[in-house]
Amino acid sequence: MTPKVSQFIRENDLPTPCLVVDVDAVEERYSRLNTVLPAARIYYAVKANPAVPVIERLVQLGSCFDAASWEEIDLCLKAGAAPEHISFGNTVKKASAIAKAWEAGVRLFAFDSIEELEKLAEHAPGSRVYCRLLVDNYGAEWPLSRKFGTTVESARELMLKAKEMGMEPFGVSFHVGSQQTSAAAYEAAITRAADLFHDLTKDGLELRMVNMGGGFPIRYREDIPGIDHFADVIFRTMTRCFGNALPEMLVEPGRYIVGEAGTVSSEVVLVSRRGREGGPRWVYLDIGRFGGLAETEGESIRYQIGVDGRDGHMEQVYFAGPTCDGADIMYEKSHYEMPNDLKAGDRVQIDGTGAYVSTYCSTRFNGFAPLEEYYI
Ligand SMILES: *Cc1c(COP(=O)(O)O)cnc(C)c1O
Repeated sequence: MTPKVSQFIRENDLPTPCLVVDVDAVEERYSRLNTVLPAARIYYAVKANPAVPVIERLVQLGSCFDAASWEEIDLCLKAGAAPEHISFGNTVKKASAIAKAWEAGVRLFAFDSIEELEKLAEHAPGSRVYCRLLVDNYGAEWPLSRKFGTTVESARELMLKAKEMGMEPFGVSFHVGSQQTSAAAYEAAITRAADLFHDLTKDGLELRMVNMGGGFPIRYREDIPGIDHFADVIFRTMTRCFGNALPEMLVEPGRYIVGEAGTVSSEVVLVSRRGREGGPRWVYLDIGRFGGLAETEGESIRYQIGVDGRDGHMEQVYFAGPTCDGADIMYEKSHYEMPNDLKAGDRVQIDGTGAYVSTYCSTRFNGFAPLEEYYI
């Protein structure tokens, strides 16, 4: 939790559950990534947190944006982003959304199939296109594989097709999976992207851009390698694969930029063993899987959960949400402890919740109000 968020939660009697995001911390992360990877253009992945104060601050800093829908593109434009700084990065787009984006001046589009390329040729003629490769997501705590990307061989055919169709075959992209803790995943993916570049050179087609997607991890409960380590591996691999003829480099961080800037404040609704002596102690919070903590599915993302003002000895607990759904359990298998004098009405803080929480929040499940958000 940043000092600013901590002070804001302490000094205000905030309704819970709520998310507090330190926008200066977002700026600090953006600048750090820019410093360690100066050769790459940052396209912030809007889906991680589309709040206007976040987008506006990033616009001021000169960031570009990776948008997945017309609605996200519109949001960025209204926050002051120039259309030439927006990439329509979803490989699955409605024809109407492509047409609106093109009309608004967006000229950079992702695809991974002939069917999508045909849509682009029709509704975004002459635009720059990049093909998404299927890469291994091993090492990612929130993988994205299988649903997106194609093989090097098929990407090669598609890029040649793109040229025939009057598009500008611009580059290649991949995503190594979110909360990717292994820099080797980038090394393997860049090597594969370089294969495509070199194959196409033989066909007389020069690509110009490698989009490395997002995936950069943040600290939850476990230590992770620093961003400088990822930058080092990326830069070394790019140099090994491309020599001095480095193509344009894009990165699309989401979690890394906003995750650690946010903290959720939540109220404990119930603490009970439900009559089972020696059974597990369940802690029910007023936020759960449906209130925004969707990434606790499979206990994939293990948030740091803290409480102030209790001094009982630490005891193992299970965490669950407030809804009447049996799937609304955050942690049973992962070991969590809370003071044994924790009681209903206490407040807990859930750190690292600036990314992928506000957007996953359901609107009215069981009548619970959606998460309040504060950007400070
Ligand atoms: C979600 C997504 C990102 C952001 O991923 P993070 O792991 O949050 O950095 C980047 N690019 C694409 C195409 C995405 O779908």
